[in-house]
Amino acid sequence: MDIYYTQYGISEKQPRSLKRQTKGKARYARGKETKEVISPQIIQDYRRLFVNRPAYTLQSTRPHPETGRHYYFTPKKVGTGAPVELTESTIRRHLDGEITIGLYAINPDNQRCKWLAIDADYQNAMEDLLKLQYRLTQDGVEPALELSRRGGHLWIFLARPLLAKDGRAYIHDIALRLGVPVKGSGLREGIEVFPKHDSIEPDAFGSALRGPLGVHRDANRRFWFHGADYTVDAQIAYLNGFRKLTERELEKFIAGKERPKPDNSPQERSTASGRRARTARLEFRILEYVAPPRKVGRNYVTRCPSCAELGHDRSGDNLAILIRDPRFYKCWAGCAKEMIRAALGRPTYMEIA
Ligand SMILES: [Zn+2]
Repeated sequence: MDIYYTQYGISEKQPRSLKRQTKGKARYARGKETKEVISPQIIQDYRRLFVNRPAYTLQSTRPHPETGRHYYFTPKKVGTGAPVELTESTIRRHLDGEITIGLYAINPDNQRCKWLAIDADYQNAMEDLLKLQYRLTQDGVEPALELSRRGGHLWIFLARPLLAKDGRAYIHDIALRLGVPVKGSGLREGIEVFPKHDSIEPDAFGSALRGPLGVHRDANRRFWFHGADYTVDAQIAYLNGFRKLTERELEKFIAGKERPKPDNSPQERSTASGRRARTARLEFRILEYVAPPRKVGRNYVTRCPSCAELGHDRSGDNLAILIRDPRFYKCWAGCAKEMIRAALGRPTYMEIA
């Protein structure tokens, strides 16, 4: 059984509404989707949250004949070749699902960003994203989790545009301390941090990320932020409510920290999925061992026994246990199953025979 890790705990893979959406190829292109009306306010909010400069990229609506993928290109004005500027109409068409745009992180005029994003798309991506999310919330930062095909994106919104190099220093430092691999530092798999550059040339573009809430052309569906209803209106309202990171906070977080280096990532990774598969087969009922849990959504939530050994998790909400199948549980601080079992006096190795 697949489980699906969420901001609030763990839940079953794919809510029914998502499954429904994945059926029917090219339904967006055929316009069969019941169209949500995109109000001018939504467009304004979207621009305020995500758009940092007029240039953007556009995802091809036709797949490449050989790879089948939909590549991004920079739309240029006929004649001058200057980049086409992003308008309100562009945003509306993106949110309507008619086109899909990519948004650049850095504005070269000031080398600043409106957002920081962490892109993770590999086997243990969600585990790493949730580790990062948990760690960020300990700093009082509120990252929004956008789902994608294999993993997702964490978006951190900024109170006002902040220097790209400072944002990068912060995220890289946190990833390093958590042992989360960063792609491009000698590793093929790992998170990608946007912005990808400390600064860019005046006429350069830097890196772009798919604009949230649009249709992912390769997957032929939308991906949503976890935590709000699956309408553009509800999603924007949800994102508007996130606390924005301030310049003062960011400066405090990175004071005395080293700048990201090319090879600062851990080389070895444990196989968490293998661990999960093995543990799931064991007849061990965690609810018989932990403090009386409370119900939060689809999960029981209680103090993590492994955290408790260290005097942590005093608020008693690190451990989430899936109500429907308590064989599935997860500590937000990142304690491995083996650590939790050992803390309960039921180490996993005792049952292997
Ligand atoms: Zn724990």
